[in-house]
Order: sequence, then structure tokens, then C-alpha cells
Amino acid sequence: MQASVDRIRRDIDRINQYTGPGLGINRLSFTPEHQGAVDYVRKQLEAIDYEMRVTAHGNYRFRRKGDDWSQPAVTSGSHLDAVPEGGRFDGVAGVVAAVEVARLLAESGDKPSVPYEIIVFSEEEGSRFGGVLTGSKAMIGSLTKKDLVQMQDQTGISYIEAIENIGVNTSDWDKAVIHPGDINAYFELHIEQSLVLETKGIPVGIVTDITGIRIYRITYQGVPNHAGATPMPLREDSLAAAAEAIQAIESLAQGASGGTMVGTVGIIENEPNVSNVIPGRTHFSLDLRDIDRECLVNMSETIISQVKDIATRRGINCTIKMTADAPPVSLSNRARQALLDATKELGIKALEMPSGAGHDAQEMARVTDVGMIFVPSIGGRSHCPEEESRFTDIAHGTSVLYSAIRKLCL
Ligand SMILES: [Zn+2]
Repeated sequence: MQASVDRIRRDIDRINQYTGPGLGINRLSFTPEHQGAVDYVRKQLEAIDYEMRVTAHGNYRFRRKGDDWSQPAVTSGSHLDAVPEGGRFDGVAGVVAAVEVARLLAESGDKPSVPYEIIVFSEEEGSRFGGVLTGSKAMIGSLTKKDLVQMQDQTGISYIEAIENIGVNTSDWDKAVIHPGDINAYFELHIEQSLVLETKGIPVGIVTDITGIRIYRITYQGVPNHAGATPMPLREDSLAAAAEAIQAIESLAQGASGGTMVGTVGIIENEPNVSNVIPGRTHFSLDLRDIDRECLVNMSETIISQVKDIATRRGINCTIKMTADAPPVSLSNRARQALLDATKELGIKALEMPSGAGHDAQEMARVTDVGMIFVPSIGGRSHCPEEESRFTDIAHGTSVLYSAIRKLCL
């Protein structure tokens, strides 16, 4: 059976009607827009006899009415939250694909012996409460309830308050944590967010590894002073130091062996940020990623020691805080093989490839076998209004997903 391009297009369009003001898609976790999108998915699944359970962690799980929730299911899903001014496909494509798989299973008339479950994770992007992959991390127990009390949005509302405000009962937090053995397998379809598939003209990617990531917040503390009266040798300019550090980060990441290392400084906050005052304090971020754990750790240590050296040489203070550390993940052979077999059966050309972006799938890989499908991103753009994918490609990916899941469920 083949996934329906029309249903996929309709679902994606309807979900994206739930967006706040601004360019592109604006749908932060647990806002009315996010709830509207979740509600749309719930209605689609209720129409084919599924029921929804909201977990104590604020994630959404769906199984057929009458299915045994204690039996490990083959699962599939993604997320509906978006970065500010984000695109229409990131996360949404995977949720819609998982819903379409449920429809195809229902239409097939098969009687699966293993239940199928759809999971919609919350706060994957971390755009409201900071962090990343928050819903999935909570679900597998790598973030505690206490952690999520401390994670607050810009208005001071914590993750826990936000989910309690929309009626989530957080009391059985520990009972809702997923442990190894609780889930049979997890599959996620996602847009590639890069140009590899598009350039090669291949409609489906099968992910082999998911990149590891380390994020730091670095602060240089110098001395703000008069831009006219302070001679060059007497300055402690925090922004000039940051400029030097940013250049060092770029050339170190460029020079890494292996060719999969990427380093980005995406945030810079400068104080007092006035044209005639020497900068006194500069914060900047470092986002470093690689699929090789050892290379990632070594490179982050090299960069951090250079960042410190720059501060020492310039006589300024430096504080460094690591805000995220997720090791790279190799995906399971069993799930990957199921997907590869499906592409062969369907005669769909596929490419095995690593994922440069992080996904809920990498958290799920700590507790179950995980398989991931990529579909091409036109122009390679993502996390922006220009994000684009072809519905036909998403349908091809969904057919692969269905075929693999069906086999594991029967
Ligand atoms: Zn995503």
C-alpha cells in the first residue's frame, strides 16, 4: 500500500494553520497554536479509532482503542513545536507520516500482533524553555521533574507550570518514564535540512548515525571605558577578544579531520553596545557537532582552551558554561535494515547517510531500536520560512515507513 500524497498535503497544510503572528511558522510548545495542532492530529486519529494519552511529561501518545498499553509497541512520531519564524515541515512531516501509517494499517485490514503507537514529542526545538529535545529526554528519564521546574520561558513560566496550565497531570512522572524494553522500536521521518539528497536526486535517506552536540555559553568580562580617552594598549575589550575567539572556532572546526565537524557561533550579546564605549562584557554561544564522539570531545577541549588563552593574553576574565552535551548515536541495525528492505521492496532509491541535526530519535535510541528516514529539503533550507519539501517525497518516505512498521507489527 502507498501513502496518499493528498492526505499528507492536507494534514501538513491544516497543521500549519495553527501559527502565531510573524513570518513563517510560530508555534512554541503548549501555546494555543501548539495545542491546536495537537488537537488536529488527535481528531485525525480518533477518526480511525485511536485514543490519546498525554504523558506526565507533556508528550502525546496514541494507540488504537482496546490495545494493551503495557505491551511494547512499534512507535513512530516527531514534534509539532517550531523555532520562531520556522518552516512548515520540520517535525510536522514526521507526525503526519506517523498518522498516515496508522491510516494505512487500518485500511490494510491486517491484525497486527504488536500494537502501533504514534508519539508527538513536545519542546523538541527548545525554543520556549531553552535546552533541546526536552520532551523526549523527560520521557526516557534523562531530565527530572526538578530539571523542568528550573527550565523557564522568557516570562518566568516553567515547563512544569506550562503543562499543568493546559491540564496535564504531572504527578505520575516517574511511572510515565520509558525504560529499555518498554518500546519495541521507534521510527521517525524527518526533512533532511540539508542538500545531500536534493543534490543527488535521491528521494529517501536512511540515517546511520545522529550527530553529537555540545553547546556552550561563553562570557568575556573586560572593562568598559571611554572610546576616545583610552589608548589602545590600556584596553580590556571583551568584544575584540570574542572576535578573535570566533575566528579561532571557525578555523579549528574547518581544520578538523573527518569532514563531519561543524562549529557555529550564533549568538553574540555585547555590553554596553554603545558606539563610543569600549565593550566591557560579551557573551557568545558555541555550537559544536560531530558524529564521532572522541573528535567532538577533543575538539571542544581544544576550542575551550584557546578561548581561555585569548582571555589570558588580553588580561580579561572568562567564564564558560556547557549548556548541552549529547553524544553521537549510531542507529540500530534491526530498524535500519527494516527500512532498507522496505525501500528495496518498493523500488525506491535510498541513500544511507548521517544526520547533522539532532532529533528526538537520538533520545529514543537510548531505550529502543531506532530507525530514521530523511526526505529531501528543497534548497537545503530549514528553520526558516523558506523551508520546503515535496509532498511526493514525503509520501515516498511514508510508504517506506509504513512497510517497515507493518512488518514489525504483524
Ligand atoms: Zn525537527
